[in-house]
Amino acid sequence: MAKKRRRRRRKQLPVFITVILVLAFVVALMVGIYKYANGDLDLGFGKNNGGTVDNSSRNDDDNIIVASEGDLEIHFLELGNKYTGDCTYIRAGDNDILIDAGSRTNSIKTIDNYLSQYVADKTLEYVIVTHAHQDHYAGFATGEKTDSLFDLYECEVIIDFSQITKGRDTGTMYKNYIRERDAEIAAGATHYTARECMEQNKNVFDLGDGVELEILDSYFYYNRSNDENNHSVCTLIRDGSNNYLFTGDLEKEGEEKLVEMNDLPKVKLYKAGHHGSKTSSGDALLKEIRPDIVCVCCCAGSPEYTDINENQFPTQDFIDRVAPYTDYVFVTTLCTDYENDKYTSMNGNIRIISKQGELTMYFSGHSQKLKDTDWFKQNRTVPAAWK
Ligand SMILES: [Zn+2]
Repeated sequence: MAKKRRRRRRKQLPVFITVILVLAFVVALMVGIYKYANGDLDLGFGKNNGGTVDNSSRNDDDNIIVASEGDLEIHFLELGNKYTGDCTYIRAGDNDILIDAGSRTNSIKTIDNYLSQYVADKTLEYVIVTHAHQDHYAGFATGEKTDSLFDLYECEVIIDFSQITKGRDTGTMYKNYIRERDAEIAAGATHYTARECMEQNKNVFDLGDGVELEILDSYFYYNRSNDENNHSVCTLIRDGSNNYLFTGDLEKEGEEKLVEMNDLPKVKLYKAGHHGSKTSSGDALLKEIRPDIVCVCCCAGSPEYTDINENQFPTQDFIDRVAPYTDYVFVTTLCTDYENDKYTSMNGNIRIISKQGELTMYFSGHSQKLKDTDWFKQNRTVPAAWK
């Protein structure tokens, strides 16, 4: 009997294991389906520094999250009009940081609505204004009767450009910017130009939990360029082994100096310089920073600056240079009919959340990589690295 029972148990054992395996498989499948439905896809950067991409399309309303969701969050905003421009919101612990506020003064409402979801106390601990072009500082540079973001938010530290091109100081928007900024300083904000940050050794700001905001050194903080873009304030966020780089609209010559003057690390995320222009994101910079993810703030395919298709943001040259490093390239907005003011979300508002170093991406638009979009297929040539 004992033998028989043992034999039976032995026979039953594989059945038992099979049942467990089948159950495990079913559970795994269900989890997989659930995860896919919720868009958790492995970004493929390895376990220690990897992350997920949210594959679901979401509305802006779905972007409301609890404050404790991530240690560090970086958001690239859509700007509510057909114009290319930058506005990056960063939240690190209790610090709310805004880099730029383009693209036009009518973007203020869009930006304010977005920020209101996250900045309940209406206080921005840091505001960085990269350079004196309206697609970057219009939101700070309103006329006296209209509220600028300086009016709508209490800004504690303002860091802005050290230089402007010759003659820029006579422009209305520049005068508006200075008036609005100086009013905020009079109300108690601390102000540094990027050059002052460097000269006063005030270029590294502790954001808590090991996160640092560093103003990088740049040749054109001290020297005037004929190209306003080169005056861009450049910022690096360090979060453990993850780094995030924001160079405004810095051009290739400025990038080359940036590489010379700073010990740049490999970066997890790079905001494409100058909206994916062919004159930025040069090889000298890219080979230092070797980005894993590149986000382009622009209205893709817009004729705002040129009618030459391949030079419209994001340009073919930019794509060709970035492609060897990553195909995780995302774009905020798509221009559908410039003449008739029509545009739509591409990836939309792009949100990157770091939780103990693990990244997850969320999109208010679709979650396709640039190379998988219809726009790309119709307007760009696939670089060799992406074939
Ligand atoms: Zn710009």
